[in-house]
Amino acid sequence: MATVVYPGTFDPITNGHLDIAIRAARLFDKVIIGVYDTPDKRLLFSTAERLELVKKSVADRPNIEVTIFTGMTVDFAIDMGAKSLVRGLRRSSDFEREFEMELMNKKQCPDLELVCLMSSLQYQFLSSSLLKEVASLGGNIDSLVPAPVAEALIEKLHTRE
Ligand code: ADP
Repeated sequence: MATVVYPGTFDPITNGHLDIAIRAARLFDKVIIGVYDTPDKRLLFSTAERLELVKKSVADRPNIEVTIFTGMTVDFAIDMGAKSLVRGLRRSSDFEREFEMELMNKKQCPDLELVCLMSSLQYQFLSSSLLKEVASLGGNIDSLVPAPVAEALIEKLHTRE
């Protein structure tokens, strides 16, 4: 069974992330979305909240699982029984970053492969950080995120005021 790990911060998950996960789920038997439990305190959502929002967003996808991970992504992928990672590419700056990270990952774990999927046209401009900025300014985000994420964002931004 071919398992792929899709790692990320997902602060919060957007339709761009979801599109990559769904397309990967057509290529692999199982996709494990790894929500990175980062020590970075500048995130809007806690690790538990980010996990919950990803879970709600893929609840109807039987071959997509979600779990939290800490530490090295390569170690997490090997523990999960994956032979590859999947990442999304929106523009050339994503490529530079992913390429650099991949070379380091290969040093750590030569047998793990990276599969990059190009972002769908309608999500090429979409990032979690831009989404949070638009949401905080009262912009319409309904077509950019799954419904539970839109609700959570509004609630979170209200409680911060
Ligand atoms: P990280 O902090 O690890 O980059 P992110 O949650 O920002 O975590 O992104 C996880 C992955 O999803 C990355 O490979 C990123 O390039 C990809 N991604 C983010 N937004 C989009 C999008 N709109 N379309 C396609 N891929 C995306």
